[in-house]
Amino acid sequence: MKNKTTKILLIYTGGTIGMVKEYKSGILKAFDFKKVVNNIPELGQLDCAIDSVSFKKPIDSSNMNPTHWVSIATIIENYYADYDGFVVLHGSDTMSYTSSALSYMLENLAKPVIFTGSQLPIGDLRTDAKENLITSIQIAALKENNQPVVQEVCLYFENELFRANRTTKINAEHFEAFASLNYPVLAESGVHLKVYKENLLKSKKAKPLIVHKELDDRVAILKLFPGFNRDLLQSILNIPNLKALVLETYGAGNAPTDEWLLNDLRNALNKGLHIVNVTQCSGGSVIMGRYETSKELERMSIINGRDITTEAAITKLMYLLGSEVSGKSFATIFETSIRGEMT
Ligand code: ASP
Repeated sequence: MKNKTTKILLIYTGGTIGMVKEYKSGILKAFDFKKVVNNIPELGQLDCAIDSVSFKKPIDSSNMNPTHWVSIATIIENYYADYDGFVVLHGSDTMSYTSSALSYMLENLAKPVIFTGSQLPIGDLRTDAKENLITSIQIAALKENNQPVVQEVCLYFENELFRANRTTKINAEHFEAFASLNYPVLAESGVHLKVYKENLLKSKKAKPLIVHKELDDRVAILKLFPGFNRDLLQSILNIPNLKALVLETYGAGNAPTDEWLLNDLRNALNKGLHIVNVTQCSGGSVIMGRYETSKELERMSIINGRDITTEAAITKLMYLLGSEVSGKSFATIFETSIRGEMT
């Protein structure tokens, strides 16, 4: 019998992976975790010991919110010393948000936290759940010189391991549901499991894990579109106590040059609102000042989101606001990559 010294904790939060069809309506609803594990007898063949904890009430990830993120972080904190790695089963819809948030919340992380899920329930004949789950566990269990190979928050889906805070859900139909357009994959599963070590976050000096649980949700996202008008802008800028705004601009960070828009943004900045320029393109970067249509945004010192995803930007804002980062250093810290979320 194998000596299973590597220990992995599965954290089940819900999502399609564990869903079953409600008899009458045919609607997919989250089900309890035993159903998931019973459907994968192969788990017993893995060369590691697997334990699991489950949300009391598994949820569709559309119902995820920062309180759930804190619950996941707390589970990892409570079991951090006892396990070599963590696999979080989560619905794919908001997986990029949750995993990005967790990447900020888990400071000094030195063990793998791998998010995964599936497009089809585990009980479905053509399910993608088994491969996703089994390979995620294998990745979480990888060690070299007795140290975990992966020491960051990742997302594994359809044969690819990504840095979580670089991902976006791009497809609601294909098994290949996620993309990381601004950062290469960390590992690929084919005939062999290939880990691209040069893309992983370098292991840091051993420091105790710090779990940040204060997140501030007084944030908003405003996606520009042609025809977007001042009433809409003002209704957002006038939200009481709004602290930060992700402005999803066109292309390389461009926006209309209408005076009303620039003036309203300038006034909001002067009143202390943090505004981050993030491109609505899935790949590429904001380059403020490249076009006339971003020059004024640069002059008024809007924060440069460079190649960050919207998911990583909004969660970084919640994390920095929750950590009470002060006014002046806020932009500098936002523009610095703290967990590999921007280039
Ligand atoms: N609606 C599901 C969820 O995000 C979709 C999935 O799991 O893929 O929970």
